[in-house]
Amino acid sequence: MRVAAMLRGSLRPIIDIGLPPLCPACREPVRDAGALCPQCWSRLNFITRPYCERLGIPFAFDPGPGILSMQAIADPPAYGRARAAVRFDDVARALVHAVKYGDRLDLVPTLGRWMASAGHELLADADALVPVPLHWRRLWARRFNQAAALANAIAATANLPVTTALKRTRATRSQVGLSKSERAQNIQGAFRVPAGARGEVAGRRLVLVDDVLTSGATVDACARALLRAGAAQVEVLVFARVVDAVRLPI
Ligand SMILES: [Zn+2]
Repeated sequence: MRVAAMLRGSLRPIIDIGLPPLCPACREPVRDAGALCPQCWSRLNFITRPYCERLGIPFAFDPGPGILSMQAIADPPAYGRARAAVRFDDVARALVHAVKYGDRLDLVPTLGRWMASAGHELLADADALVPVPLHWRRLWARRFNQAAALANAIAATANLPVTTALKRTRATRSQVGLSKSERAQNIQGAFRVPAGARGEVAGRRLVLVDDVLTSGATVDACARALLRAGAAQVEVLVFARVVDAVRLPI
C-alpha cells in the first residue's frame, strides 16, 4: 500500500505535465490542481450549525441550543458525538469515489482539513484517531484504505496519533441496498481489538474516522468493539453523511 502510494506520488508530476488539471467531481478543466470547478464548489453542502449536538444531523431551522434529533433520543448509538464535513450528495459522492479508487489521492489533504474543521471539538477532546478498517482481502485488492488515508491527513492537522488497533475480522458484503436493520446485522461482530493491541485502546478517548456515514451501522459496530476493549470514549468523524428527513422531538 505504501509502495503504491509512493509510486503514485513520484509519478504524478510527470503524468501531469502538459495536461490541464481536472475538477475531481465533474472532470471539467480547472485552473488549479486539486480545486473544484465553481459549479461543483457551489453545490457542495458543508454541514454547519444548527445540527443535532449528538449525531451532527443538520436541522432545517434552529430549534435552540442543545436540542437533540429524534433519532438521537429514540435510537442512540454506541458512540458519543458524530460530525461530518459535508452532506453526501452528487459532488461529495464524486469526491469520495475519486479518493476511494485511488486516482485522486491528491485530494486527501483537502478532505482531511475540512474534516478536521468540522470535528474540531471532537479532536480537542481526543487521544487518538482510529480509521474504520478494511478486511485484509479487500485492502489487498484495493491496496489502499481511504479511511486510513483520511485519518492520517487529519492527524497531521490535529497533531494526534493514529492507531490501527481495530481490525476487521471478517469480510462483510456491501452495505449498498440493505435496510437499516439488515446493515446492522451484516456488520455485527465484524470488528475486534486483538488482545495484544488493547493497550492502544484501553482508557483512551478515540475518534473513529471513515469516508461516508450512511445508516451508522458500521461505525456503531466499530464503537462497540472499541468500548468492549476498554476505550474511555468513542466519537465519529466522517467526510460525508447521508442526510434524510430529520425529525425533531415534539
Ligand atoms: Zn466540477
